[in-house]
Amino acid sequence: MAHDALFERLWSGAAPMEEWTAAVSEGAITQVADTIITVHTTYFCGSVTAIRTDAGLVLIDTAKPDTAARTLAVVRGWDDSPIHTVIYTHGHIDHTSGITLIDEEADARGRPRPRIVAHRNVRRRMERYEASHGFNSLVQGQQFNKPGYVYPIGQRRPDEVYDESLSLTIGGEEIALFHGRGETDDASFVWLPKRRVLASGDFVIWVFPNAGNPRKVQRYAADWAVALRRMQKLEPEILIPGHGPVIFGKERAAQVLRDGAEALEYLTSETLRLINEGATLDEVLHAVKVPPRYLAKPYLLPKYDDPEFLVRAIYHFYAGWFDGDPAHLKPARTADLALELARLAGGADKLAERAAILSGEGQTRLAAQLAEFAGAAAPADARIQAIRAAVLQRCIDGETTLMGKAFFAVYQRDAEAKSKA
Ligand SMILES: [Zn+2]
Repeated sequence: MAHDALFERLWSGAAPMEEWTAAVSEGAITQVADTIITVHTTYFCGSVTAIRTDAGLVLIDTAKPDTAARTLAVVRGWDDSPIHTVIYTHGHIDHTSGITLIDEEADARGRPRPRIVAHRNVRRRMERYEASHGFNSLVQGQQFNKPGYVYPIGQRRPDEVYDESLSLTIGGEEIALFHGRGETDDASFVWLPKRRVLASGDFVIWVFPNAGNPRKVQRYAADWAVALRRMQKLEPEILIPGHGPVIFGKERAAQVLRDGAEALEYLTSETLRLINEGATLDEVLHAVKVPPRYLAKPYLLPKYDDPEFLVRAIYHFYAGWFDGDPAHLKPARTADLALELARLAGGADKLAERAAILSGEGQTRLAAQLAEFAGAAAPADARIQAIRAAVLQRCIDGETTLMGKAFFAVYQRDAEAKSKA
């Protein structure tokens, strides 16, 4: 199949992914093969792939709560046979949540519910989401600016799990699952050997790998690269990413897998080299940068996660939480430190005024630090909070990533509200 004009513009970097989301929002089909489709509704939902077999449909992922109905309707417009098996590529809710509707449909039609297959750790992830439900609701609400967000839990758990790899034959279709760690520790990529079709799950997502998300559990940059290299060795002719459009052609698929692996390998090896030399987190963070040639690739743009956050996660993976600054081993309370600094500076307002100057000079990191100290030293001072809000706004404006912008925005809104209180 030839790529369409929009794909070519995405591939060349001429079109932003928002344009693709707008194009697929009603529910779009990519015909992967005669008996295979991938359904898209928005970049922000995991793609759903449906495979027609003699035993019924196999689905790879199920969409998220607000796209599941649209996705299932699109699948049903293509094939009405029973859903035999559902594969979760991992336990994130934009891949698992559609199972509830799928089960309801099966119940309503008097058909058996599909068998769910996934990596063993998907069950553990679901248990963790229940244990940390309040926190996940809060963080997800912060990340996507949806105050009051309630994290959806209770998706049906896998019936059949595996550890390293799993070979299935369903209605004559050979389907191989391989486990790797990347964004999560429960991920699978799915390989259809006879068709040379690879469904990568979220190992390929049309942005820079999100292995650094500030408020999520440990992620696995080095293992992510390993998984991409394994996929590259399979030499797929069609690559179905977890998010974003399907990539046709052996060369393009190989290029995406290789570039992603190289960028992650670079970050990992540079971070490790400095750790092994005894560098502190501060030194590592300000020394390790992804070569710009990778960040210029339209499928590796730093629009969602920030490579700097990945460096932190890599440091944490190998070196634990201590950053190498003795003042941070048993730190003073932030409010006490802020008061002390304000006293030295001649008042919290002096800290805030200096923050405003630094912010105006584009020194947003320093400015944010001083503004936060000023706010902590005098939380009820409306003028200081207004400066804090302006400084944090400059931080937001300077970020390219959704996560960077979103987390600064949480505190910017807080400062804004306090400045008017
Ligand atoms: Zn996803």
